[in-house]
Amino acid sequence: MSVPHFPIHRDQRDNFHDLAAYDLSVDLESIEKQFDKTLLQLVDYIDMLDEPALVQAVIDLNESYQDLLQQQAQAAQCDAELDEIKKRYLQISSAATPVTIDTVRDYIDGTTQIQSLQQFYDDTHQEDFKNIRISNNSNNKRKTRGSAATYGAPLSTERLLTILPYIIDDPTCVVPDDTETEETEDDIQIEGGKIELSCPITCKPFENPMISKKCGHVFDKEGIQIYFNTPDKKKCPQGACGHELTATDFKPDQVMLLRCKINKMKRPTTTENLDTL
Ligand SMILES: [Zn+2]
Repeated sequence: MSVPHFPIHRDQRDNFHDLAAYDLSVDLESIEKQFDKTLLQLVDYIDMLDEPALVQAVIDLNESYQDLLQQQAQAAQCDAELDEIKKRYLQISSAATPVTIDTVRDYIDGTTQIQSLQQFYDDTHQEDFKNIRISNNSNNKRKTRGSAATYGAPLSTERLLTILPYIIDDPTCVVPDDTETEETEDDIQIEGGKIELSCPITCKPFENPMISKKCGHVFDKEGIQIYFNTPDKKKCPQGACGHELTATDFKPDQVMLLRCKINKMKRPTTTENLDTL
């Protein structure tokens, strides 16, 4: 004789709601934090690596990041699935004959039957949920990344991993995937599809590149201090820009700094020569 199953008792329904699959999200979050930390360390010390080592590191990081995104999506899918299964099982359970002194015997001898949650899960799980695709995590990432209107926004992991292969290959290149930013930036900074790694004010290679939050133009900290020598608004030093700015409209440009560091790594001799000029 098989083990009888009973519908969930009314008083137990709240406990049933709390029933959850082992919550992976906390683990995955800490892996992600660890990952971000590794990536930032790589960025900080990027000019200490040689190019092949850097290329390999970025490939490895990209692979693990894709794995992480996939695991996050799977965990989210698993949660959504379990929630839906619980909801359906509660309905079945509520519709079943209540267990009373009069009906309990029928459950025990099998005259009245209800599937166990495990059976119901096994049956429903495969068929109904194959096509669920929950992408909570990647959706959130897209949102933060799409905020191109705020120039100099903190670099997201995803954006870093997108731009790194391009600027490692050519630190002065326009990153093709960066269309959202480039559309508004259009011809600025770019001469013949190249990004200048020197400040238009000081004409020296960037040391502390700063980006204008209003128009996205980049100048060196030193140049900004020279040009914006009063708190009054002045026209953006970039030729046709026309934005009225003050020194407080600028913040460090992490991407430009990265470009410069990689450039230094790739052409150590030329940069040293320039420095001594
Ligand atoms: Zn400007």
